[in-house]
Amino acid sequence: MAWTREDANKLYGVSKWGSGYFNIDEDGCITVEPCKDGARIRIIDVIEEAKKRGLRLPLHIRFQDILQDRVKRINEAFAQAIEEAGYKGQYQGVYPVKVNQMREVVETLMDAGEAYGLGIEAGSKPELLLALSIHKNGNRLLLCNGYKDDEFIRFALMGCKIGKKVVVVAEKLEEIKGLIELSKEMGVKPYIGIRIKLATRSSGKWATSSGEAAKFGLSTVDLLEAMNLLEQAGLKECVTLLHFHVGSQIPDIQVITRCVREGARFYAKLVRMGCPISYIDVGGGLGVDYDGSRSTVASSANYSLREYANTIVYGIMDICDEEKVEHPTIVSESGRALVAHHSMIAVEAFGRIAKLNTIKNLVVPKNAPKVVRDILEVKETVDAGHYDEAFHDLVFYRQQAMSLFDLGYLDLQSRAVVESLSWEILAEISRHYEGKARMSEEMKELVAGLKDQYLLNFSVFRSLPDSWALGQLFPMTPLTRLNEEPTIKGTIADITCDSDGKVDTFIGDGEDQDQREYLWLHDLNDKPYYVGIFLTGAYQDTLGDMHNLFGRMDEAHIVLDSDEEAGWYIDEIIEGDTIREVLEENEYAIAELIRSIKTQVEQAIKKDVVKPNEGMKILADYEAGLKRYTYLQVDSRRRL
Ligand SMILES: *Cc1c(COP(=O)(O)O)cnc(C)c1O
Repeated sequence: MAWTREDANKLYGVSKWGSGYFNIDEDGCITVEPCKDGARIRIIDVIEEAKKRGLRLPLHIRFQDILQDRVKRINEAFAQAIEEAGYKGQYQGVYPVKVNQMREVVETLMDAGEAYGLGIEAGSKPELLLALSIHKNGNRLLLCNGYKDDEFIRFALMGCKIGKKVVVVAEKLEEIKGLIELSKEMGVKPYIGIRIKLATRSSGKWATSSGEAAKFGLSTVDLLEAMNLLEQAGLKECVTLLHFHVGSQIPDIQVITRCVREGARFYAKLVRMGCPISYIDVGGGLGVDYDGSRSTVASSANYSLREYANTIVYGIMDICDEEKVEHPTIVSESGRALVAHHSMIAVEAFGRIAKLNTIKNLVVPKNAPKVVRDILEVKETVDAGHYDEAFHDLVFYRQQAMSLFDLGYLDLQSRAVVESLSWEILAEISRHYEGKARMSEEMKELVAGLKDQYLLNFSVFRSLPDSWALGQLFPMTPLTRLNEEPTIKGTIADITCDSDGKVDTFIGDGEDQDQREYLWLHDLNDKPYYVGIFLTGAYQDTLGDMHNLFGRMDEAHIVLDSDEEAGWYIDEIIEGDTIREVLEENEYAIAELIRSIKTQVEQAIKKDVVKPNEGMKILADYEAGLKRYTYLQVDSRRRL
């Protein structure tokens, strides 16, 4: 049966993790449908257009329309749940800036959220100063989370002074004391929020930041003490918001159910104690189904947006009705679920380290060293179908061969034959055991070494920090050729000089395999081969570091427009870092670097090592080099 795009869709799970935004077209290309309304863009067209405009790979691509669509969907999910439940309060989201602080992202979200009263959340002084300036409408919330010093609280109160609803969410008792003192000093009536520590623990990768050992939030003892202090200061009626947040990417809806009910109980009890709280803020945690499995594994979530909204609305309503208190305005701080989908990275493969790069038409001479002839015999064992025996013999003779080489008894030609035969034999053994459970650990390890490495022109540390630090999975697929069967199992190596600069765990098929140790890829030809890494909009954009001085990537922002012939255009281009910029960021003075090279060139000229003309050219090239992109320039013709 011929390979079709349906096969590719199944293999890469595009329609599962793609959530309707990403698909494969009839030409085998990945497309994006930012508003899920039929208007589709081929990613490869974006790359071609960006290249025409002078941008380079790796390329960071953002779809501004997806951001708008996410805002709409989250708000509509809550509106629908509220309507269906007959809930008497409202929903009002806030965007936690830390998830992606890029100006265009924040501005697009704030614009798209205007109709829904989307507010903003800051977790540090720099974020607060940013939020104060961007937040313009008095009814939208501006929440301050995170540890705060007096200066932080002063800035927040300053916001209240100019008519903003800035809520200082106390993370610990000292902040309540600071708030009491400073609001008196500045003559401002504050909006006070209180973050509580829930006993419910999250699951998933952020589980340790939840429960009673969490770093943020007031314990029940502190909460009561805070109430006393506020009452004495006459500020009890300023307590406006109750907040909890048990962690990001909560994969299991049951955790959310428990948190919401526990949190709502706190709310109800506080209201009954006379606190006029009008907002219950359920924090972040709304998961993104990165692997498309709809399960409770860490890179997934076993619930839909609709189920999430229902769980929260019904959960709060139940408890409030039971306790006979008013239905509060529901606030959520979804960051990941708002921004993850809108951004992706296109990277180019510039090489492949093939393990099965064996010697063609191998003839082992009669007088070859004994160990080589022994391994040749193992090949006969495997050909005769004795796989276990062949494996054990292979391990033994291979080790022997390597020891002989170390001691100087084996020449390079013989070692090449040993390597070549070993891979051939292993490949056959692994084909035999494919999918069968009966593989020993040792065998698995050796077979794992059989996978080809694809060299991709990007840095994991810069562009996918959570893959490296937390083992989080991100969906990846070739961007073209999906109507062609991929034949190679590959892992991915980046261009940093770090053995951690790799990706060797990938999303599975969402059915019987949670994850795979390889990605199916196509053989490289003389054309560029692009791989897309998707759903990178949350946290990845700004957490990355400068390992090996790889800087920011070139960036293209795509906007749908039916007036354009293509239906879309590149709205903005942001050039990535130049070599000069990453050096300057590390405190190097460029003039000094140039001066030093100049001195060295002059000395070389003086010693007649280079001609003056040549020397001047070297200097000019060095200076021009400082303006270059930090990543590789790939020449795919070399692969022929
Ligand atoms: C990080 C954070 C969020 C965002 O969480 P997501 O899971 O990305 O939605 C929300 N609230 C607080 C307090 C946070 O620290």
